[in-house]
Amino acid sequence: MSPARSQVVIVGAGPTGLMAACQLARFGVDFRIIDSKSGPTRESRALVVQARALEVYQQLGIADRAIERGYIMPAMNIHANGKRRARVPLGDIGGPLNPFPFLLVLEQSQNEELLYEHLRSLGHDVTWNCEFTGLTQSDTQVTVTFQGADGASETTEADYLIAADGASSPIRRALDIPFGGGTYNERFYVADLQIEGDIPHTEGSIFFAKEGFALALPMDGEKHFRLVGAVPKYADTETPTFDDVRRDLDPIFQRSLTFGEPNWFSSYTVHHRCVENFQSGRVFFAGDAAHIHSPAGGQGMNTGLLDAQNLAWKLALVARGSAQPSLLETYNEERLPFAQRLLQTTDRAFQAGLSRNPLLVFLRLRVFPNLIRLGMRFGGTRRLFFDTISQIGITHRGHSLAVNHGTQQDRLRAGDRFPAFEVEVQRKACSTVGLIRDPGFHVIDFAPPGRTRQNAQACAATAKDLNVPLTYKEAICLDAEWREDVEGRTYLVRPDMYVGLASTALTQEQLLDYFSSALQIEC
Ligand SMILES: Cc1cc2nc3c(=O)[nH]c(=O)nc-3n(C[C@H](O)[C@H](O)[C@H](O)COP(=O)(O)OP(=O)(O)OC[C@H]3O[C@@H](n4cnc5c(N)ncnc54)[C@H](O)[C@@H]3O)c2cc1C
Repeated sequence: MSPARSQVVIVGAGPTGLMAACQLARFGVDFRIIDSKSGPTRESRALVVQARALEVYQQLGIADRAIERGYIMPAMNIHANGKRRARVPLGDIGGPLNPFPFLLVLEQSQNEELLYEHLRSLGHDVTWNCEFTGLTQSDTQVTVTFQGADGASETTEADYLIAADGASSPIRRALDIPFGGGTYNERFYVADLQIEGDIPHTEGSIFFAKEGFALALPMDGEKHFRLVGAVPKYADTETPTFDDVRRDLDPIFQRSLTFGEPNWFSSYTVHHRCVENFQSGRVFFAGDAAHIHSPAGGQGMNTGLLDAQNLAWKLALVARGSAQPSLLETYNEERLPFAQRLLQTTDRAFQAGLSRNPLLVFLRLRVFPNLIRLGMRFGGTRRLFFDTISQIGITHRGHSLAVNHGTQQDRLRAGDRFPAFEVEVQRKACSTVGLIRDPGFHVIDFAPPGRTRQNAQACAATAKDLNVPLTYKEAICLDAEWREDVEGRTYLVRPDMYVGLASTALTQEQLLDYFSSALQIEC
């Protein structure tokens, strides 16, 4: 019997693999997803869904459900030596222009449930209890072997393999790919438990002290929190318990609190590591399999979700035979630099939060809280903070899929995420987010009427010539903040909501050239 065959195989049904599957399903790609677990994780693990990931959820049609199931964190309180030094309001920190101007607390297990439900609603399922055991690859295919629940070995062939198999990635090991970086000396703990006493349950709190830090994030349930911190040095064991941690909590919190028995306690070493290339032949690494870093800033799960979104539409174009496989190299080009920057910033934040160096202790306890308090008074600082932490600010400017024609100096350029603002389309007001929901490319045209007619014809002819999904929308900008920037411009928006081509005078030649030279689509 010849082996089964799919266009794409995904190993790992954590948040990254499930997002990849939902995206491939959207684009009509034939795929298979397997996981050695028996179902979505039950562990809370990552807690925060950032605005950029919510935009991707919105494209899938599941953002409302995520918001219903989670809660919007109103504020983070920053304490030093037991005293509250700053309160950072987070409920609308992204400002009125953002569709999701907040941090949503929704634990990883619920994100996985949500994505899994969505995947099933699209007629797909995960093969659970199925363990990846090996692979070979040639110029034309990947052959993957699994072991199912019955212990039998099975082989599947595929054009491409997505390794979403987590930090210890068996696929990365099978290919002998280095995971360069290091491991922090400290061990960390995470405990989900009740805390009684002088601590707000509706807001997040971080406590800094000479001894280290503790982060308390509210969770569902009365007085229920997620507590994160470093395992004290005196608990010199590989498997500390909550009792080992408890003794250090008083000097860090410096207030009267009673800690219940955790209903989940785990300790782990934190690594900062990254592969050198997200691609190895026909295998693509995504999520923790490609990069891991400290949990500072709640970026881990979100980064995996966005890796998957970046890769899926490119794989879809190649799988349907529209684009050359070289398009797939842009996945590494766009995602690797971001992962490397993230590793650096989370590393600095982590070191500063933990160091016993007297200067860093002084900065942590005296300077940092005041800087935050002052900085958050200014709209510009708030926006910078939000754009960074929410991953809204990621841009692919200067990369090979970003092409400007006369827009090189504009505020909105090729490579930028297409921003959310109010527009009028066919005499109806709506948000740009709604215009770029369908799976495919979108031209959003702010040119004057004579030129929009020409542009519409050019887009229709291009879509027909190339057999690519392309919608065209003539729009009027209703937002005073963006009007001058976008007026007269035409934007080709990629399926992942980034501007591919920006032009002050779009022509069919520009479009064809973009599709052939940048996207490697045969014209
Ligand atoms: C204790 C803990 C706390 C954390 N807290 C945070 C946090 O607060 N904020 C944050 O952003 N991140 C946090 N993280 C990190 C976050 O959980 C990860 O970044 C996220 O899970 C990455 O998703 P992923 O899908 O890439 O990998 P994973 O979620 O690890 O999924 C990998 C999947 O691959 C499957 N798999 C592995 N090997 C095989 C095999 N041989 N065959 C088949 N399937 C296989 C696994 O079963 C798993 O389902 C935490 C992690 C841990 C462990």
